[in-house]
Amino acid sequence: MRNFRHRLLHPLVLVTALTFVLSGCSSTAAPQEPQTPPSVETPTPPKKEEAKPKEETTSPPAETLKQEQPEQPQKAKPTETKSGEKPSAGQPPELSFPDIEVVGEPESVAVLVNKQRKLPESYQPNDLVFPNVPYLLPEKSEKRKMRKEAGGALEQLFAAAQADGVQLAGVSAYRSHAYQKALFNRYVKKDGVEKARTYSAVPGTSEHETGLAIDVSGKDGKCAAMSCFAGTKEAKWLDENVEKFGFIIRYPEGKDAITGYIYEPWHLRYVGVEIAQEIREKGITLEEYSGAVPVSTPTN
Ligand SMILES: [Zn+2]
Repeated sequence: MRNFRHRLLHPLVLVTALTFVLSGCSSTAAPQEPQTPPSVETPTPPKKEEAKPKEETTSPPAETLKQEQPEQPQKAKPTETKSGEKPSAGQPPELSFPDIEVVGEPESVAVLVNKQRKLPESYQPNDLVFPNVPYLLPEKSEKRKMRKEAGGALEQLFAAAQADGVQLAGVSAYRSHAYQKALFNRYVKKDGVEKARTYSAVPGTSEHETGLAIDVSGKDGKCAAMSCFAGTKEAKWLDENVEKFGFIIRYPEGKDAITGYIYEPWHLRYVGVEIAQEIREKGITLEEYSGAVPVSTPTN
């Protein structure tokens, strides 16, 4: 019965997801159309534009490796006004994105967060741990953290890779909402909001804020979070094995019209073994999976 439903729904889901990406529409589930003009968000950038940051949330990789960014954004800047009545010159106004839907179950391991769906403003995972695996990050870095279930699975995944002669390292996992906000605002200041949205995740829409996602590289850090990671021994191992540990390659090759992101063989997302294996077997994305089994529908 379940398979039958999937067969029926897949083409519809695909077309719907494609429509979202191209139109910037928030959701068919929304009770009414947003009152604001449709988003002019640029679709996935062409692959040849190497100058732009590739990854939706990571700082440029060289920066990540050479000098760790401050873990917490500065809380009080001298020019900032709390009242909001008189915004200081040079400070961007508080940004809002009415075209982005807020997810209902942010704590679910199956939560779908993407360019159309964001975490609630106040959401912070309450079970973050430091997975005991090698990282290309300082020992106490907050970016090592993952939610407990995902972190345990990551340790098993790294151990299995090691047993196969593949040595992995974590590049970047959890990203706090405050950090993502500071990062995005920095890009907005530099390039303006519309351009910033083409290469950096709007606060709340980064999977790294769920505590369920991690960027992984080889232990040498070569091509960390860069397109040249594709085709490496480590990337091949991940592609063949992650679902056994409950992870998926979240932004697969050729699915950018659905996910909104170009191929990222390094970005792993934990969804649990059952869902990961179903997604793998069917060759679908989390978007397609979620469309067939809506988050709001109770499941077993
Ligand atoms: Zn990532």
